[in-house]
Amino acid sequence: MRKNRVGLIGFPTEHSLSPVMHNAAFEALGMSDWLYDAMSIPPDILRYGVQEPKNHGYIGINVTVPHKEAMMELVRPDEIARAIGAVNTVDFRNNSGTNTDADGIVDDLRANGVPIANKRVLVLGAGGAARAVVYGLARERARVAIVNRTKIRAERLVADLKSAAGIDGIAVMTLDEAADWGMSLIINCTSVGLHPHVDQSPWIHGVPFPAGVTVYDTVYRPANTALMQQCIAHGGRAIGGLGMLARQGALSFEIWTGVAPPVDVMLGAAQAALENTGKV
Ligand code: NAP
Repeated sequence: MRKNRVGLIGFPTEHSLSPVMHNAAFEALGMSDWLYDAMSIPPDILRYGVQEPKNHGYIGINVTVPHKEAMMELVRPDEIARAIGAVNTVDFRNNSGTNTDADGIVDDLRANGVPIANKRVLVLGAGGAARAVVYGLARERARVAIVNRTKIRAERLVADLKSAAGIDGIAVMTLDEAADWGMSLIINCTSVGLHPHVDQSPWIHGVPFPAGVTVYDTVYRPANTALMQQCIAHGGRAIGGLGMLARQGALSFEIWTGVAPPVDVMLGAAQAALENTGKV
């Protein structure tokens, strides 16, 4: 039995890359008394699914779909989690919850040399990922606009960020309006293009694709999405979302262990696992 245990709860969790990323990091750093495992917990027994690992001495857990919002009621959410409205990392030692997705995307944009401050950034989508991304961008002083299929959901996101974090000035647009907005960066936070629907793009047919922009696609299955291909065909630069995944995981790792995370090891392990499933 390993002494220091951490893990993931979600429903389901079979396809998660988190165990492989964290266990590779423990191995690379010689932390042989640490173990990360995945637990699939149905929503109706979430409370017990959280209590049991805690009772068994787990140090913390990651939280994924569909439990991130419900977790807000089961731990003490910090300022970041409250602004986003979702918890993805729990530390049982003080029963606190945070959300590392916002810093995960900002860190990855920085690592890829993509400027954000004072830049126009278009976010496609208004679900959980978009909430974290918009919050992270706004905190870095980007000028953010959101396009979402269901407009009212984008308007709710804007209103929630204003009331929870005092963030103002985020626009909601149609894709037609956005095409002429002059953004330098587009971040896809919709699930459009996700495996197995690899031929689909969130950029609606008939709306001209802006030339020369950077696209960051939070979707990482496949590695080269239809939207990324569209961007490159129009002279732009495209970045896939695996780096965001690795970096949000790295931030959780540091919270639990207090050790600087080996981000490249975590990213490499995630990449290798994806290649093994044949979905890159
Ligand atoms: P979610 O809360 O279910 O939101 C899904 C979003 O996609 C909504 O904005 C939804 O629009 C939009 N959408 C779905 N189908 C669509 C369609 N056919 N046409 C247009 N829009 C559509 O999901 P989420 O948690 O935000 O996750 C979204 C994606 O982000 C995931 O699939 C995942 O690939 C990616 N993600 C990546 C990371 C990472 O670390 N790289 C982390 C989290 C998520 P409506 O509001 O109109 O339904």
